[in-house]
Amino acid sequence: MATPLEPTRLLLLAEQAVWAATLHECLAPFGDAYVLISAPSWAVVSSLFEHDRQAVLLTTPKLQPADLACQMAQVLLLEAEPAEPPQSASDWLVRSTLNPDTLRRCLRHVRERTSLESTLQRLAEEDPLTGIANRQGFQTLLAGRLASTEGRGLALGHLDLDNFRHANDSLGHQAGDRLILQVVARLKAQLEPGDYLARLGSDEFALLLDTRGDAQRAERMAERIVEAMAEPYWVDGESLLLGCSLGVAHGRAKAGADPLMWHAHIAMQQAKGIQGCTYHVFNERINRNARNLADLESELRRALRRDELELHYQPRLDLTSGQVVGLEALVRWRHAERGLLPPSEFVPLAEQSGLIVPLGYWVISRALYDMQNLREAGVAPLHMAVNLSFRQFQDSQLLSALSRLIDERGIDARWLEFELTETAVMRRNELVRYTMDALGKLGVRFSLDDFGTGFSSFVHLNSLPIALLKVDKSFVEGMEARPENRQLVHAMVNLAHNLNLEVVAEGVETSAQMELLRSFGCDQVQGYLISKPLPMVALQAYLQQRQSAASG
Ligand code: C2E
Ligand code: MG
Ligand code: MG
Repeated sequence: MATPLEPTRLLLLAEQAVWAATLHECLAPFGDAYVLISAPSWAVVSSLFEHDRQAVLLTTPKLQPADLACQMAQVLLLEAEPAEPPQSASDWLVRSTLNPDTLRRCLRHVRERTSLESTLQRLAEEDPLTGIANRQGFQTLLAGRLASTEGRGLALGHLDLDNFRHANDSLGHQAGDRLILQVVARLKAQLEPGDYLARLGSDEFALLLDTRGDAQRAERMAERIVEAMAEPYWVDGESLLLGCSLGVAHGRAKAGADPLMWHAHIAMQQAKGIQGCTYHVFNERINRNARNLADLESELRRALRRDELELHYQPRLDLTSGQVVGLEALVRWRHAERGLLPPSEFVPLAEQSGLIVPLGYWVISRALYDMQNLREAGVAPLHMAVNLSFRQFQDSQLLSALSRLIDERGIDARWLEFELTETAVMRRNELVRYTMDALGKLGVRFSLDDFGTGFSSFVHLNSLPIALLKVDKSFVEGMEARPENRQLVHAMVNLAHNLNLEVVAEGVETSAQMELLRSFGCDQVQGYLISKPLPMVALQAYLQQRQSAASG
């Protein structure tokens, strides 16, 4: 809006010279407040308007082009005689009744209307909580930047918070809002002039980065952003960690907004496969992979519906009593063409796509069902260990669904055990702890799987309701050949006992390994030496044969 010191420019484009004379006369009482510029052509009007977006155009219905209203906001139509109110202009002036008063009123009206329109536009394109652009605002901004740069020299980031929904549910919405404000403040602190931030949804953000002719800048920025996001947040005196996934796509000449947004989204999905705060940069190869993954994902979805998954059970032996004391449920996919697939072929994909949540429920439900069957077949109660992915903890229904399943099957929860990996547990996520505590109260036990392959903080380990530690098979494997592996496994057993945890060694294949483990004081062993994972029918036969051998 023009200040009183800056005159309002009136651009006049009319066939008859009489308009210029009339307007000059009417404007005379206002001194320097207005400047009237007679333009000879549309080209001149456009270029004047380019320099001063506050200018008001005065023109006649005949000269007014059809799309005038969208080109310029402030238009006054000049009519010789009273006529129909114009549709596309802000207002109109009739020469026969024109005087300084009506002209001034009209000009004020035009300017007020324009300012109201721009306020409405701003509200429609702004996120009310954070004041940054919303999805619509971002689309406008992106279209503008793509038009002026042809897609060169910019990169688009799509950032998604991994567990915000849970934080929001458990902290309450007001605290959730404060958390979002902290996230935005952190993101803004990483930006430099020319970069833009927008909120696309409740926990999704877009970043428009100016690469300044240096393609590496986007990657450096992404690195800095995920680092900043990984720091703990403080909300209501409590600290919490949020995971985030950032996908980055580079703009390409003449590529539109849609492919760019889509590519950043795909890269974000790829980043989601890795936990913690991570970023991924889009490239064509990933895109092809993503397509294959999409096929496999829909196949897996179908497999779940058609009941093509199976559980095999691997026994766990207690070294003191020589008894089988537990089972580990291991999932397999009986694929129509590819045969029996091990979890490595589809569990990572399921984790990436979120399918692990329904798949995980299927596994738990089937394991509980088989526990019931074993009990009915007269097998002595055994601990049933089920592997749980970190992603399953991000599902807000986990606790209630598990309680319901345990109830429905009439299983004593004390026989149920969940195996978690170090990375899942060490995230120090409040939700993980809360869920573990609540399940622990039901009687469920937890074990730390693949111990030694991830990173564990022992102080933290001791504060979680974990009952067992499973030494990863890679350490057991090397024990016979390498003395340092022997020492390592021995140290792990001692460490677990100091923390009051039981120890299970995985991947035991030879009796020499088993004897070493026994001499270290290891509590239980699991591995091909005892038994391979077995389908239900074979397992029942195996257990019954052991039982009768023991009693006979
Ligand atoms: P894990 O939980 O560490 O399971 C042990 C893996 O070691 C199993 O592989 C098992 O077959 C294998 N194994 C057992 N004894 C021996 C042995 O003596 N020697 C050797 N070389 N290997 C042995 P599997 O069944 O292929 O499972 C691989 C991983 O897949 C599991 O590792 C677990 O992390 C994951 N997984 C399996 N089932 C599920 C599931 O239902 N849900 C989730 N989230 N993950 C699962
Ligand atoms: Mg396991
Ligand atoms: Mg393991």
